[in-house]
Amino acid sequence: MKIICIGRNYAEHAKELGNEVPDKPVIFLKPDTALIPKGHPFFYPSFTKDLHYEVEIVVKISRVGKVIEERFAPKYYSEVGIGIDFTARDLQQQCKEKGRPWEIAKAFDFSAPLSQTFIPITQFDDVQNIDFSLKKNGVVVQEDNTKNMVFSINRLIKEVSEVFTLKMGDLIFTGTPKGVGSVVVGDVLEAYIGDRMLLKFKIN
Ligand code: MG
Repeated sequence: MKIICIGRNYAEHAKELGNEVPDKPVIFLKPDTALIPKGHPFFYPSFTKDLHYEVEIVVKISRVGKVIEERFAPKYYSEVGIGIDFTARDLQQQCKEKGRPWEIAKAFDFSAPLSQTFIPITQFDDVQNIDFSLKKNGVVVQEDNTKNMVFSINRLIKEVSEVFTLKMGDLIFTGTPKGVGSVVVGDVLEAYIGDRMLLKFKIN
């Protein structure tokens, strides 16, 4: 199982970090060790001093495929969940400045907290019209709608599958909207699709 992540897929978020809106999806991977085993606490990593949350809609792949045309992409997923693409922003900045790969900033253990529950896409009128949000300590810090993606879910599946064979159970983190920010020990994060809270945990 692999975790595929998309960077800069909401224009306002790209801008807040001083990045250009890309003309092709920015794709990177996290290993399966980025997931948190059920019931395991989340600990603030020792190697960063600026851990950022990025709430993202997550698509679960339901069928093996490669080089998938955009119009056939809906056949390859049937559920969406929500997750956090945790980022060691200080390390990421150093990697970017030096032109280095940024896995140490993005793909570390437990860097991808994920909802246990996934919602069948049949429950939505349109997957490109899903409200989602993140609360930190009860206050909304990120809030957007999948209609504001730069590249739609179907386009992402096309682009990703040209490079990586997609397998059942693979996850695509589809990018974060504006409002990313730091967490400290003691903070509680809650991620919502619509008004359904699907993920809640504390920073230990
Ligand atoms: Mg992200």
